[in-house]
Amino acid sequence: MSTAPLVERPGQLILVPTPIGNLSDMTERAIETLKSVALIACEDTRTSGVLLSHFGINTPTTSFHAHNEHGKASRLVQTMISGQDVALISDAGTPGISDPGYLLVRAALDAHLEVSALPGPTAVIPALAASGLPTDRYVFEGFLPAKKGRQGRIASLVEEDRTVVLYESPHRLKKLLTQLSEHAGEERQAAVAREISKKFEEMRRGSLAELLEWVESLDRVRGEIVVVLASEKASKKLNRA
Ligand code: SAM
Repeated sequence: MSTAPLVERPGQLILVPTPIGNLSDMTERAIETLKSVALIACEDTRTSGVLLSHFGINTPTTSFHAHNEHGKASRLVQTMISGQDVALISDAGTPGISDPGYLLVRAALDAHLEVSALPGPTAVIPALAASGLPTDRYVFEGFLPAKKGRQGRIASLVEEDRTVVLYESPHRLKKLLTQLSEHAGEERQAAVAREISKKFEEMRRGSLAELLEWVESLDRVRGEIVVVLASEKASKKLNRA
């Protein structure tokens, strides 16, 4: 009786970043990869459908999101074990970065499948790089909890000796800047990146007091937001300069 595996090569999982606002940021490798795999797992098949058809990608899609990822991960692993490559995309940016992905990566690795990630769009890196705050050491916190545990997390983040990068929804920006200011002091240097790569892209830099003054001058904060906070030491240096 032969013990040869059913397939010569199991499929692999490829994480493919997609634009966060500007379609020109889609890389050639991302397009080629999405055309070549057997199946694309999408956070939202309708949202991604628009992007895929824009780039002439006709690969079959399936949904993979926060509400089905546990059950879906094992089915996608079976697809890969049967020899088919699967790509994972999220609504925007890099899958797994404040988006579903980790569970599937873990499930694929546990099944001894190959996992790779393409470099590409994400909001964290352009916000950090253009913030004017130290980039040599940073910590990415993603979204803070909306309520429970939020104050404690903020209290520890303001003590960080690395630059902190946070995602925040526009309607909570004022609250976040106020809370950061309460814990870190209003002189702490920070930056707010809004609508990166989009028509109304904006980068505001200054003390938390200055950023709060700007937010308070607006009728409403619109668009997608990344907040970058300097460490106390870096902030003092910048304030002395
Ligand atoms: N996977 C994405 C990435 O790689 O950046 C992040 C997805 S997360 C659900 C969405 C959050 O990312 C937004 O609320 C915002 O904080 C940030 N974000 C995404 N696109 C952005 C943009 N164009 N400008 C500023 N922030 C953005």
